[in-house]
Amino acid sequence: MIHNETYDVIVVGSGAAGTMAALRAAERGLSVLVVEKTHKFGGTSATSGGVIWVPNHQLEPNDDTSEQAFAYLDSLIKWPVQRDRLAAYVEQAPKMIHFLKSLGVPVMPAAWPDYFSESPGARSDRSIVCDTFDGRELGDKFVLMREQYTRFKLMNRYSMDLPEFFSISTRGDGWIKALAKILWRYWGDISTRLIGGRDRRFTTGGALMGHLFKQLFDRGVEVRLETRLDELLVTGGAVTGVKAMHFGRGYEIHARHGVILCAGGFEWNQELRERFFPVPGLTRHSSTPEDGNRGEALLAGLKIGADTEHTEGGWWIPTMHMPMPKASNFEEIHQAAFDVGRPHSVCVNRNGERFVDEACSYDEFGAAMVADQLKTGANTPCWLVFDATFRANYTAGGFMPTALMPDWLIPKDRWDHYIFKAHSLEALAQKIHLPLQALARTVANMNSFAKSGVDPEFGRGGNPYDCMFGDPAVTPNPCLGAIETAPYYAVPINLGDLGTKGGLKADARARVLDGNGQPIPGLYAAGNNAGSPFGNVYPGAGGTIGPALTFAYVAVNDIIEQTAGGQVSPAKKSTLEKAAKLTTVERG
Ligand SMILES: Cc1cc2nc3c(=O)[nH]c(=O)nc-3n(C[C@H](O)[C@H](O)[C@H](O)COP(=O)(O)OP(=O)(O)OC[C@H]3O[C@@H](n4cnc5c(N)ncnc54)[C@H](O)[C@@H]3O)c2cc1C
Repeated sequence: MIHNETYDVIVVGSGAAGTMAALRAAERGLSVLVVEKTHKFGGTSATSGGVIWVPNHQLEPNDDTSEQAFAYLDSLIKWPVQRDRLAAYVEQAPKMIHFLKSLGVPVMPAAWPDYFSESPGARSDRSIVCDTFDGRELGDKFVLMREQYTRFKLMNRYSMDLPEFFSISTRGDGWIKALAKILWRYWGDISTRLIGGRDRRFTTGGALMGHLFKQLFDRGVEVRLETRLDELLVTGGAVTGVKAMHFGRGYEIHARHGVILCAGGFEWNQELRERFFPVPGLTRHSSTPEDGNRGEALLAGLKIGADTEHTEGGWWIPTMHMPMPKASNFEEIHQAAFDVGRPHSVCVNRNGERFVDEACSYDEFGAAMVADQLKTGANTPCWLVFDATFRANYTAGGFMPTALMPDWLIPKDRWDHYIFKAHSLEALAQKIHLPLQALARTVANMNSFAKSGVDPEFGRGGNPYDCMFGDPAVTPNPCLGAIETAPYYAVPINLGDLGTKGGLKADARARVLDGNGQPIPGLYAAGNNAGSPFGNVYPGAGGTIGPALTFAYVAVNDIIEQTAGGQVSPAKKSTLEKAAKLTTVERG
């Protein structure tokens, strides 16, 4: 039995936000407990691409500035956001990333255009990635970290880093060598194979979270699994702990200085989707782990009077689903973010009309699906229509190019349910119930745009971001190729998400605000548990993990500053004073 536990800080959730909060607290000498609802730690963050968007990071000297970052963000953000929270992000994110670097976490900038690459202040060096991590450094906890997303594992087994992922999925330069290296590394690692099938090479979000957990466990922090926050404890108006549930048994855990809610979004709670989203979509189209983010921490905050913001949408991404191999009655979600913009294809609504630059960023794509659904009622799902050239060369959601997955290898039950094929465009239109004339007109237009290299309707392939995921072998526009080689194919594309954008309203110091705009003492929120500092905008690769890490870091700094002068034991007071001094020096 667990009795009367008290920590300086309780962190709820073990994704990027939660792990950073716990790490910062432990590194500053505070006692901290992480409670994690599921049977694995790492959250969506461990399954993710692990990219972190940090303007003006100066990890390598460059001429980015906070003014440029503001110019960029100001040009994108069209609805009201908290200005001082946005400013806190621009100021604190570089400090957060240098904190990680100072601990030895191998973070480095990647060449990745901001998602609105033609807007004022846009750059191509603000996305940070983390070098791979050897999972076995986690010792016996190796198997307890959530695995990377299926799409970042070749055949759901072999880990790929992002360059390998892009090279293999487009069969780009050096893809065969990359593939051979991956197989060699995996099968040559006999000692790990004796433990099980999991690849010890953690890449992408697995790499980021592997490094963070190593730091956390080295500092003796406990991540208590299968422990769900249900309610917040409040004493005299201040949050003083949590009511948690462990295998059906409820108990209280107390916090001296603060509770930091990092329990992700509410994407797996259909009721909350219906309550907040104009086009709710379905939980089962989300690409985040299904057993995690159901909004309990949001509801616990609401129960004690917290306010919310930016809850109107998700971090959208087009997805498709297919039966999960060897698991009857379950479906697996496949992202189609980069597939929908590849040449020799077009996306149409159920009227056979285009509605977006298909090669735009995935969040914009989803936002366009929502807007088109509200306008026409003929979207969510829409269709990705492509020809045999596309099929031979690129992935379509869960379907690999024919070199890796020829048509004959696709199980029979997928045809005419998850993927459709016909010898002519007319026959395809009939199969998927699209108006033939509209589809034929759309395809004819695309074919003429492919010739000229210019898409006058939506500008597909007309900016650096689009072109990054096009095929350089296709000219004059790497995102536009004629759709003219039979057979023709189609897959339905759903309104998927990577989590939700809104949550509890938190201020520039990550303190949760009540309905009167006043901080609720002792309560902080970070990551998707809080509203995004960017409102409904996804500025660049890493636009959700960047704020998650930053406001978790900010929350702990605030706890330290707030409590250093308060009523605590002499021993704790000296720890807090030391931590506060260090924090002040670091914040400059
Ligand atoms: C495939 C994929 C790729 C992505 N790539 C990127 C990328 O490269 N860059 C980027 O910025 N974003 C990316 N995203 C989005 C990003 O992963 C998430 O937005 C981000 O990880 C959210 O971090 P978080 O810490 O807020 O939440 P999470 O990482 O989801 O962690 C929340 C944790 O809280 C736990 N929890 C929930 N409820 C409770 C409760 N009641 N009690 C206790 N614990 C609870 C959950 O189980 C979970 O472990 C990607 C998402 C996916 C699915």
